[in-house]
Amino acid sequence: MLMAHKIALDPNNKQATHFARAAGTARFAYNWALAEWDRQYAAHREDPFLPAPTEAALRRQLNAIKRTEFPWMLEVTKNAPQMAIMQLGQAFRNFFADRAKHPTFRRRGVHDRFTLTNDQFRVAGRRIHIPHLGWVRMREALRFSGAIMSATISRTADRWFVSITVETDDPPRRPVEHEGAVGVDLGVLALATLSTGERVPGPKAHKQQLGRLRRLSRSLSRKQKGSKNRAKVKAKLARLHARIADIRLDSLHQLTSDLTRRFDVIGIEDLNVRGMVRNRHLSRSIADMGFHEFRRQLEYKAERRGAAVVAADRFFPSSKLCSACGVIQDEMPLSLRIWTCPACNTTHDRDLNAAINLARHAVSSTVSACGGEGSGSGHLAPVKPAPAKQEVSAKATLA
Ligand SMILES: [Zn+2]
Repeated sequence: MLMAHKIALDPNNKQATHFARAAGTARFAYNWALAEWDRQYAAHREDPFLPAPTEAALRRQLNAIKRTEFPWMLEVTKNAPQMAIMQLGQAFRNFFADRAKHPTFRRRGVHDRFTLTNDQFRVAGRRIHIPHLGWVRMREALRFSGAIMSATISRTADRWFVSITVETDDPPRRPVEHEGAVGVDLGVLALATLSTGERVPGPKAHKQQLGRLRRLSRSLSRKQKGSKNRAKVKAKLARLHARIADIRLDSLHQLTSDLTRRFDVIGIEDLNVRGMVRNRHLSRSIADMGFHEFRRQLEYKAERRGAAVVAADRFFPSSKLCSACGVIQDEMPLSLRIWTCPACNTTHDRDLNAAINLARHAVSSTVSACGGEGSGSGHLAPVKPAPAKQEVSAKATLA
Protein backbone atom coordinates (compact mmCIF):
# COMPACT_ATOMS: atom_id res chain seq x y z
CA MET A 1 0.00 0.00 0.00
CA LEU A 2 1.30 3.48 -0.85
CA MET A 3 1.22 5.82 2.12
CA ALA A 4 2.32 9.44 2.30
CA HIS A 5 3.58 11.16 5.42
CA LYS A 6 3.68 14.97 5.33
CA ILE A 7 6.26 16.42 7.69
CA ALA A 8 7.05 20.06 8.44
CA LEU A 9 10.61 21.09 7.61
CA ASP A 10 12.93 23.51 9.36
CA PRO A 11 15.16 24.72 6.52
CA ASN A 12 17.74 27.44 7.18
CA ASN A 13 17.60 30.58 4.99
CA LYS A 14 19.89 29.14 2.36
CA GLN A 15 17.88 25.93 2.15
CA ALA A 16 14.56 27.79 1.99
CA THR A 17 15.89 29.94 -0.86
CA HIS A 18 16.99 26.81 -2.68
CA PHE A 19 13.55 25.21 -2.17
CA ALA A 20 11.91 28.27 -3.71
CA ARG A 21 14.27 28.11 -6.68
CA ALA A 22 13.69 24.38 -7.22
CA ALA A 23 9.92 24.90 -7.00
CA GLY A 24 10.25 27.79 -9.48
CA THR A 25 12.20 25.54 -11.85
CA ALA A 26 9.56 22.82 -11.54
CA ARG A 27 6.81 25.36 -12.28
CA PHE A 28 8.69 26.72 -15.28
CA ALA A 29 9.28 23.24 -16.71
CA TYR A 30 5.64 22.28 -16.16
CA ASN A 31 4.38 25.40 -17.90
CA TRP A 32 6.93 25.10 -20.71
CA ALA A 33 5.89 21.46 -21.31
CA LEU A 34 2.18 22.33 -21.17
CA ALA A 35 2.60 25.06 -23.81
CA GLU A 36 4.70 22.71 -25.97
CA TRP A 37 2.16 19.92 -25.57
CA ASP A 38 -0.71 22.10 -26.74
CA ARG A 39 1.35 23.48 -29.63
CA GLN A 40 2.52 20.03 -30.78
CA TYR A 41 -0.95 18.57 -30.35
CA ALA A 42 -2.48 21.31 -32.55
CA ALA A 43 0.24 20.73 -35.17
CA HIS A 44 -0.41 16.97 -35.03
CA ARG A 45 -4.15 17.54 -35.61
CA GLU A 46 -3.30 19.67 -38.65
CA ASP A 47 -0.71 17.26 -40.03
CA PRO A 48 -1.00 13.66 -38.76
CA PHE A 49 2.53 12.97 -39.97
CA LEU A 50 3.82 15.13 -37.12
CA PRO A 51 4.08 13.11 -33.87
CA ALA A 52 1.58 13.57 -31.04
CA PRO A 53 3.22 14.90 -27.88
CA THR A 54 4.25 12.57 -25.05
CA GLU A 55 5.75 13.41 -21.68
CA ALA A 56 8.81 11.25 -22.38
CA ALA A 57 9.50 13.11 -25.64
CA LEU A 58 9.01 16.46 -23.91
CA ARG A 59 11.47 15.51 -21.19
CA ARG A 60 14.08 14.58 -23.81
CA GLN A 61 13.37 17.81 -25.64
CA LEU A 62 13.88 19.92 -22.53
CA ASN A 63 17.06 18.04 -21.62
CA ALA A 64 18.45 18.79 -25.07
CA ILE A 65 17.96 22.54 -24.81
CA LYS A 66 18.19 23.40 -21.11
CA ARG A 67 21.97 23.77 -21.06
CA THR A 68 21.88 26.52 -23.67
CA GLU A 69 18.41 28.01 -23.21
CA PHE A 70 17.75 27.65 -19.47
CA PRO A 71 21.19 27.25 -17.86
CA TRP A 72 19.82 28.32 -14.43
CA MET A 73 17.92 25.01 -14.37
CA LEU A 74 21.22 23.27 -13.68
CA GLU A 75 21.50 24.95 -10.30
CA VAL A 76 18.83 22.73 -8.79
CA THR A 77 18.23 18.99 -8.77
CA LYS A 78 17.50 17.60 -12.23
CA ASN A 79 14.48 15.96 -10.64
CA ALA A 80 12.65 19.29 -10.34
CA PRO A 81 11.99 19.81 -14.08
CA GLN A 82 11.85 16.10 -14.94
CA MET A 83 9.30 15.14 -12.30
CA ALA A 84 7.19 18.21 -13.12
CA ILE A 85 6.87 17.05 -16.72
CA MET A 86 6.02 13.52 -15.57
CA GLN A 87 3.28 15.05 -13.40
CA LEU A 88 2.02 16.90 -16.47
CA GLY A 89 1.89 13.56 -18.28
CA GLN A 90 -0.24 12.17 -15.45
CA ALA A 91 -2.48 15.26 -15.59
CA PHE A 92 -3.04 14.62 -19.33
CA ARG A 93 -3.75 10.92 -18.71
CA ASN A 94 -6.38 11.95 -16.17
CA PHE A 95 -7.79 14.44 -18.69
CA PHE A 96 -8.02 11.89 -21.50
CA ALA A 97 -9.63 9.37 -19.13
CA ASP A 98 -12.26 11.96 -18.20
CA ARG A 99 -11.04 12.03 -14.60
CA ALA A 100 -9.88 15.66 -14.67
CA LYS A 101 -10.05 18.93 -16.56
CA HIS A 102 -7.43 19.98 -19.12
CA PRO A 103 -4.21 20.85 -17.23
CA THR A 104 -3.71 24.53 -16.49
CA PHE A 105 -0.56 26.56 -15.99
CA ARG A 106 0.95 26.56 -12.52
CA ARG A 107 1.04 29.96 -10.89
CA ARG A 108 3.79 31.36 -8.73
CA GLY A 109 2.94 31.13 -5.03
CA VAL A 110 0.10 28.65 -5.52
CA HIS A 111 1.14 25.29 -4.08
CA ASP A 112 4.82 25.76 -4.98
CA ARG A 113 6.40 22.33 -5.10
CA PHE A 114 8.98 20.01 -6.58
CA THR A 115 9.42 16.25 -6.39
CA LEU A 116 12.46 14.07 -5.80
CA THR A 117 12.85 10.44 -6.83
CA ASN A 118 14.14 8.08 -4.15
CA ASP A 119 17.70 8.07 -5.51
CA GLN A 120 17.90 11.84 -4.95
CA PHE A 121 17.38 11.97 -1.21
CA ARG A 122 17.68 9.90 1.91
CA VAL A 123 16.02 10.02 5.29
CA ALA A 124 17.74 9.41 8.63
CA GLY A 125 15.76 9.95 11.80
CA ARG A 126 14.50 13.50 11.82
CA ARG A 127 16.59 14.65 8.86
CA ILE A 128 16.37 14.45 5.10
CA HIS A 129 19.40 14.74 2.82
CA ILE A 130 18.85 16.58 -0.47
CA PRO A 131 21.43 17.09 -3.24
CA HIS A 132 22.95 20.59 -3.39
CA LEU A 133 21.55 21.26 0.07
CA GLY A 134 22.78 18.74 2.59
CA TRP A 135 20.72 17.81 5.61
CA VAL A 136 17.41 19.52 6.31
CA ARG A 137 15.73 19.10 9.68
CA MET A 138 12.30 17.47 9.85
CA ARG A 139 9.85 18.14 12.67
CA GLU A 140 9.20 14.41 13.15
CA ALA A 141 10.57 11.11 11.96
CA LEU A 142 9.00 9.21 9.07
CA ARG A 143 6.01 7.28 10.43
CA PHE A 144 5.89 4.39 7.95
CA SER A 145 8.37 1.67 7.26
CA GLY A 146 8.86 0.12 3.86
CA ALA A 147 10.37 1.17 0.54
CA ILE A 148 10.62 4.94 0.13
CA MET A 149 9.34 5.94 -3.32
CA SER A 150 9.51 9.72 -3.63
CA ALA A 151 9.39 13.00 -1.75
CA THR A 152 7.53 16.17 -2.67
CA ILE A 153 8.68 19.39 -1.05
CA SER A 154 5.98 22.04 -1.00
CA ARG A 155 5.16 25.40 0.50
CA THR A 156 2.00 26.32 2.37
CA ALA A 157 1.93 29.96 3.43
CA ASP A 158 5.56 30.47 4.42
CA ARG A 159 6.14 26.96 5.74
CA TRP A 160 7.91 24.19 3.90
CA PHE A 161 6.80 20.56 4.09
CA VAL A 162 7.99 17.28 2.73
CA SER A 163 5.53 14.58 1.79
CA ILE A 164 7.31 11.23 1.66
CA THR A 165 5.63 8.38 -0.18
CA VAL A 166 6.32 4.90 1.17
CA GLU A 167 5.34 1.49 -0.18
CA THR A 168 4.46 -0.09 3.17
CA ASP A 169 4.57 -3.75 4.07
CA ASP A 170 0.88 -4.45 4.62
CA PRO A 171 0.13 -5.91 8.03
CA PRO A 172 -1.13 -9.49 7.87
CA ARG A 173 -4.87 -9.64 8.33
CA ARG A 174 -4.95 -12.63 10.66
CA PRO A 175 -2.85 -13.87 13.51
CA VAL A 176 -0.05 -15.58 11.64
CA GLU A 177 0.63 -18.41 14.02
CA HIS A 178 -2.89 -19.50 15.00
CA GLU A 179 -2.11 -20.85 18.43
CA GLY A 180 -5.74 -20.59 19.45
CA ALA A 181 -6.71 -19.02 22.76
CA VAL A 182 -4.56 -17.63 25.51
CA GLY A 183 -5.16 -16.11 28.93
CA VAL A 184 -2.88 -13.37 30.18
CA ASP A 185 -2.27 -12.47 33.80
CA LEU A 186 -0.39 -9.21 34.08
CA GLY A 187 2.01 -9.19 36.95
CA VAL A 188 4.75 -7.24 38.59
CA LEU A 189 7.78 -9.44 39.03
CA ALA A 190 7.08 -11.11 35.73
CA LEU A 191 5.48 -8.74 33.25
CA ALA A 192 2.91 -11.37 32.33
CA THR A 193 2.07 -15.02 32.79
CA LEU A 194 0.39 -16.82 29.89
CA SER A 195 -1.95 -19.79 30.19
CA THR A 196 0.54 -21.70 28.03
CA GLY A 197 2.88 -21.65 31.02
CA GLU A 198 5.16 -19.04 29.51
CA ARG A 199 6.36 -16.29 31.77
CA VAL A 200 7.23 -13.01 30.11
CA PRO A 201 9.90 -11.44 32.25
CA GLY A 202 9.66 -7.72 32.78
CA PRO A 203 12.46 -5.49 31.56
CA LYS A 204 15.64 -6.01 33.55
CA ALA A 205 15.99 -2.39 34.54
CA HIS A 206 12.53 -2.58 36.01
CA LYS A 207 13.35 -4.52 39.15
CA GLN A 208 16.11 -2.15 40.12
CA GLN A 209 13.86 0.84 39.59
CA LEU A 210 11.14 -0.71 41.72
CA GLY A 211 13.60 -0.97 44.56
CA ARG A 212 14.51 2.68 44.21
CA LEU A 213 10.85 3.57 44.04
CA ARG A 214 10.15 1.76 47.27
CA ARG A 215 13.03 3.48 49.07
CA LEU A 216 12.05 6.90 47.76
CA SER A 217 8.42 6.62 48.76
CA ARG A 218 9.44 5.45 52.24
CA SER A 219 11.67 8.49 52.51
CA LEU A 220 8.83 10.70 51.29
CA SER A 221 6.55 9.51 54.06
CA ARG A 222 9.16 10.49 56.62
CA LYS A 223 9.50 14.05 55.34
CA GLN A 224 7.55 16.88 56.94
CA LYS A 225 4.51 18.01 54.96
CA GLY A 226 5.16 21.28 53.12
CA SER A 227 8.92 21.07 53.60
CA LYS A 228 11.48 21.77 50.86
CA ASN A 229 12.93 18.32 51.24
CA ARG A 230 9.57 16.73 50.74
CA ALA A 231 9.06 18.69 47.51
CA LYS A 232 12.48 17.53 46.29
CA VAL A 233 11.77 13.87 46.98
CA LYS A 234 8.36 14.26 45.38
CA ALA A 235 9.89 15.58 42.15
CA LYS A 236 12.42 12.75 42.15
CA LEU A 237 9.63 10.26 42.65
CA ALA A 238 7.65 11.72 39.75
CA ARG A 239 10.66 11.41 37.44
CA LEU A 240 11.24 7.84 38.51
CA HIS A 241 7.58 7.01 37.93
CA ALA A 242 7.85 8.41 34.42
CA ARG A 243 11.00 6.41 33.70
CA ILE A 244 9.43 3.19 34.91
CA ALA A 245 6.31 3.88 32.87
CA ASP A 246 8.53 4.38 29.78
CA ILE A 247 10.38 1.11 30.26
CA ARG A 248 7.08 -0.64 30.87
CA LEU A 249 5.44 0.86 27.79
CA ASP A 250 8.22 -0.48 25.63
CA SER A 251 7.90 -4.01 26.94
CA LEU A 252 4.11 -3.82 26.73
CA HIS A 253 4.40 -3.10 23.01
CA GLN A 254 6.55 -6.18 22.56
CA LEU A 255 4.12 -8.28 24.56
CA THR A 256 0.96 -7.12 22.79
CA SER A 257 2.55 -7.53 19.35
CA ASP A 258 3.64 -11.03 20.24
CA LEU A 259 0.21 -11.99 21.62
CA THR A 260 -1.76 -10.69 18.64
CA ARG A 261 0.63 -12.35 16.23
CA ARG A 262 0.20 -15.73 17.87
CA PHE A 263 -3.32 -16.04 19.21
CA ASP A 264 -6.84 -15.71 17.83
CA VAL A 265 -8.56 -15.27 21.20
CA ILE A 266 -6.95 -13.41 24.10
CA GLY A 267 -8.48 -13.42 27.56
CA ILE A 268 -7.58 -10.68 30.02
CA GLU A 269 -8.95 -9.27 33.25
CA ASP A 270 -11.19 -6.25 33.27
CA LEU A 271 -9.52 -3.00 34.13
CA ASN A 272 -11.94 -2.48 36.99
CA VAL A 273 -10.66 -5.48 38.87
CA ARG A 274 -7.42 -3.69 39.44
CA GLY A 275 -9.03 -0.35 40.03
CA MET A 276 -11.25 -1.81 42.71
CA VAL A 277 -8.55 -3.59 44.60
CA ARG A 278 -7.59 -1.17 47.29
CA ASN A 279 -4.08 -2.01 48.24
CA ARG A 280 -1.05 -0.41 49.75
CA HIS A 281 1.37 -2.37 47.63
CA LEU A 282 3.36 0.04 45.55
CA SER A 283 4.46 -2.57 43.06
CA ARG A 284 0.82 -3.40 42.49
CA SER A 285 0.01 0.19 41.64
CA ILE A 286 2.79 0.10 39.07
CA ALA A 287 1.12 -2.88 37.45
CA ASP A 288 -2.17 -0.99 37.43
CA MET A 289 -0.53 1.89 35.64
CA GLY A 290 0.34 -0.34 32.71
CA PHE A 291 -2.92 -2.22 32.61
CA HIS A 292 -4.93 0.43 30.83
CA GLU A 293 -2.20 0.80 28.22
CA PHE A 294 -1.91 -2.98 27.85
CA ARG A 295 -5.59 -3.30 27.05
CA ARG A 296 -5.57 -0.33 24.67
CA GLN A 297 -2.63 -1.73 22.69
CA LEU A 298 -4.02 -5.23 22.69
CA GLU A 299 -7.39 -4.09 21.38
CA TYR A 300 -6.11 -2.02 18.47
CA LYS A 301 -3.51 -4.60 17.45
CA ALA A 302 -6.04 -7.43 17.71
CA GLU A 303 -8.49 -5.48 15.58
CA ARG A 304 -5.86 -5.08 12.88
CA ARG A 305 -5.30 -8.83 12.81
CA GLY A 306 -8.90 -9.87 13.33
CA ALA A 307 -8.28 -11.49 16.71
CA ALA A 308 -10.66 -11.23 19.66
CA VAL A 309 -9.88 -9.74 23.04
CA VAL A 310 -12.14 -10.84 25.88
CA ALA A 311 -12.01 -8.98 29.16
CA ALA A 312 -13.50 -10.97 32.01
CA ASP A 313 -15.71 -8.73 34.10
CA ARG A 314 -14.81 -7.80 37.61
CA PHE A 315 -16.91 -10.56 39.16
CA PHE A 316 -14.95 -13.26 37.41
CA PRO A 317 -12.83 -14.94 40.12
CA SER A 318 -9.76 -15.57 37.98
CA SER A 319 -7.44 -15.98 40.98
CA LYS A 320 -9.81 -17.78 43.33
CA LEU A 321 -11.08 -20.35 40.86
CA CYS A 322 -9.23 -23.67 40.83
CA SER A 323 -8.48 -24.38 37.16
CA ALA A 324 -8.34 -28.11 37.88
CA CYS A 325 -11.65 -28.74 39.65
CA GLY A 326 -13.59 -25.47 39.38
CA VAL A 327 -14.05 -24.87 43.10
CA ILE A 328 -13.87 -21.22 44.13
CA GLN A 329 -11.75 -20.37 47.17
CA ASP A 330 -13.05 -17.83 49.66
CA GLU A 331 -9.80 -16.08 50.31
CA MET A 332 -6.78 -15.55 48.12
CA PRO A 333 -4.37 -13.08 49.68
CA LEU A 334 -2.09 -11.31 47.23
CA SER A 335 0.98 -12.62 49.01
CA LEU A 336 0.02 -16.23 48.24
CA ARG A 337 2.06 -17.09 45.13
CA ILE A 338 1.56 -20.84 45.32
CA TRP A 339 -1.50 -22.54 46.78
CA THR A 340 -3.05 -25.96 47.03
CA CYS A 341 -6.73 -26.48 46.31
CA PRO A 342 -8.37 -28.12 49.32
CA ALA A 343 -10.96 -29.80 47.10
CA CYS A 344 -8.73 -31.55 44.56
CA ASN A 345 -5.30 -31.17 46.15
CA THR A 346 -3.79 -29.58 43.05
CA THR A 347 -0.97 -27.15 43.73
CA HIS A 348 -1.20 -23.99 41.67
CA ASP A 349 1.06 -21.16 40.69
CA ARG A 350 -1.23 -18.25 41.40
CA ASP A 351 -0.57 -16.35 38.14
CA LEU A 352 -0.61 -19.38 35.87
CA ASN A 353 -3.90 -20.57 37.40
CA ALA A 354 -5.43 -17.14 36.79
CA ALA A 355 -4.16 -17.09 33.21
CA ILE A 356 -5.66 -20.52 32.49
CA ASN A 357 -9.01 -19.38 33.89
CA LEU A 358 -8.91 -16.25 31.74
CA ALA A 359 -8.16 -18.32 28.62
CA ARG A 360 -11.14 -20.65 29.23
CA HIS A 361 -13.38 -17.76 30.02
CA ALA A 362 -12.38 -16.05 26.77
CA VAL A 363 -13.07 -19.17 24.73
CA SER A 364 -16.50 -19.75 26.27
CA SER A 365 -17.39 -16.08 25.73
CA THR A 366 -16.40 -15.99 22.07
CA VAL A 367 -18.13 -19.27 21.38
CA SER A 368 -21.40 -18.01 22.83
CA ALA A 369 -20.94 -14.69 21.03
CA CYS A 370 -20.49 -16.42 17.68
CA GLY A 371 -23.52 -18.67 18.17
CA GLY A 372 -21.84 -22.02 18.65
CA GLU A 373 -18.53 -23.67 18.15
CA GLY A 374 -19.43 -24.89 14.66
CA SER A 375 -20.05 -21.45 13.18
CA GLY A 376 -16.53 -21.59 11.75
CA SER A 377 -16.56 -18.20 10.07
CA GLY A 378 -12.96 -17.87 11.14
CA HIS A 379 -13.58 -14.29 12.13
CA LEU A 380 -14.27 -13.56 15.74
CA ALA A 381 -15.78 -10.23 16.64
CA PRO A 382 -14.11 -8.50 19.57
CA VAL A 383 -16.25 -9.14 22.61
CA LYS A 384 -17.07 -6.57 25.23
CA PRO A 385 -16.63 -7.47 28.89
CA ALA A 386 -18.84 -10.45 29.52
CA PRO A 387 -21.81 -10.11 31.88
CA ALA A 388 -21.49 -11.55 35.37
CA LYS A 389 -23.41 -14.63 34.26
CA GLN A 390 -20.33 -15.78 32.34
CA GLU A 391 -18.93 -16.98 35.63
CA VAL A 392 -21.47 -19.78 35.52
CA SER A 393 -20.67 -20.85 31.98
CA ALA A 394 -16.96 -20.85 32.80
CA LYS A 395 -17.64 -23.24 35.65
CA ALA A 396 -19.92 -25.34 33.48
CA THR A 397 -17.18 -26.00 30.95
CA LEU A 398 -14.93 -27.13 33.74
CA ALA A 399 -17.48 -29.41 35.38
ZN1 LIG B 1 -9.29 -27.79 42.80
